[in-house]
Amino acid sequence: MTAVEKLEKHVKELSNINYTKSVLFWDGETGAPKSGVNERGEALGYLNSLYKRKMSDEEFISLFSRLSEDKTIDLVPKRMAEELDDEYKKIKNIPEEEYVDYIKLINNAHMVWEEAKDKEDFDAFAPTLKEIIAYQKKFIDYRESELSPYNVLLDDYEPGMTMDKLDEFFSALKETIVPLLKEIIDSDVVVDDMFLKRDIPIEKQKKIVNNLVEMINFDLGKGMIKGSAHPFTLGLSPLDVRFTNRYQEDSLDFALFAGAHEGGHAIYEQNIDQNLIGTNLADGASMGMHESQSRFYENLICKDIHFVRYYYKKLKEKYLDELKDIDVYTFYKGINKVTPGLIRIYADELTYSLHVMIRYEIEKEIFENDLAVGMIPKLWEEKMQSYLGVVPSNDAEGPLQDVHWSGGMFGYFPSYALGSAYASQIMHFMRKELPVNELLETGDIKQVGAWLREKIHKYGKVKKPSELINDISGEGFNPIYYANYLKDKYSAIYEI
Ligand code: ZN
Repeated sequence: MTAVEKLEKHVKELSNINYTKSVLFWDGETGAPKSGVNERGEALGYLNSLYKRKMSDEEFISLFSRLSEDKTIDLVPKRMAEELDDEYKKIKNIPEEEYVDYIKLINNAHMVWEEAKDKEDFDAFAPTLKEIIAYQKKFIDYRESELSPYNVLLDDYEPGMTMDKLDEFFSALKETIVPLLKEIIDSDVVVDDMFLKRDIPIEKQKKIVNNLVEMINFDLGKGMIKGSAHPFTLGLSPLDVRFTNRYQEDSLDFALFAGAHEGGHAIYEQNIDQNLIGTNLADGASMGMHESQSRFYENLICKDIHFVRYYYKKLKEKYLDELKDIDVYTFYKGINKVTPGLIRIYADELTYSLHVMIRYEIEKEIFENDLAVGMIPKLWEEKMQSYLGVVPSNDAEGPLQDVHWSGGMFGYFPSYALGSAYASQIMHFMRKELPVNELLETGDIKQVGAWLREKIHKYGKVKKPSELINDISGEGFNPIYYANYLKDKYSAIYEI
């Protein structure tokens, strides 16, 4: 057996473990009886330790370390080895006992966070958050990286991303969005979106969402959609991609656009080259790139006037008697209404990135300037006031609203905003090759999907996000396309 064959065999075993873990996770999130939670937890724990054991096998470690440096092997096995090497370097110097303690802390932190959120009391979560941050800082030290602490975390979720680049990105956004938002608030244009809250039976909403995601080329023959409290996507392989959605009678817009969003993630997963199945590369290039595809379909396709004209008529004729009196432009404006609010996940497209920016700025302070945890609520309030003009009335509407910090996920938030910006940059260059407006107007999304598959999806993790962006646009990540897109779209809607 050659070294590469050995590598492939080991990776296949790891991928089988991950596959099984994912199925258990899916089951737990989508309706498995609560009474089975302990056994499911035990099975997951066993699979985790099996994975860890394989990843600490000395022979395997020296194999992938060696191959990650080997310039004579093919790109795919080289990238496989590099990914393993990166994964290994993150934890190799952490003392076993410390890591076990951290995992316990994280398991418990979820409950502490939930309770604190219920009580709207940041102080109840603060001691746990402080501990999590202390561990994260220690773990960063163990890695002996040349990068500064917060850059280490950013690089984990978005390879190559740094504070320098993000500072530039967010300041461009701040310059565009904050004054635009002020003009929108002062504008005389009244956008009605109350019709989106009309009661529509859940069974009907499910049909509508299925219909929409099929229009954008999600293949239901190789996928599945179920209900869950928080929508998410799970790609078991390009041949089995599932996502969830949340349905409430008075929230058609949530189901429709969460469906389009998760549909975008799912389409990415379905279009990964099938030759990568069973490797550690059958996944999105990065969190930001994954988010670019979900936002692309959610905002640049399903909230675009041309495509709205195509699908709204169809959906209305087939299902939506409830919206008989609502014409297409009223619908378009309603789904694009700007309302500065307190909660990130309900934010409109324009203000969404400001929510992300606040989290980014606070995380940066925590890891670069040792911001005390107790200061977070006050800082949060100041930033909300200054960027969005609204202030939380309690901590649940403030820093307790997101689950991420309780899971130790620092450095993750910027991916959400980057995703939107990547999507605009990608669209700008797609328009140079495809008559996008005409395709959307006629519902011919196949060509759009094929373009994305060829330029992004099929590569999985073989290409890094910066390579994908460079190959598409001939330049690095550039926030100007996103800023211009927002300015153009919202100036038109609000007649500014
Ligand atoms: Zn997403």
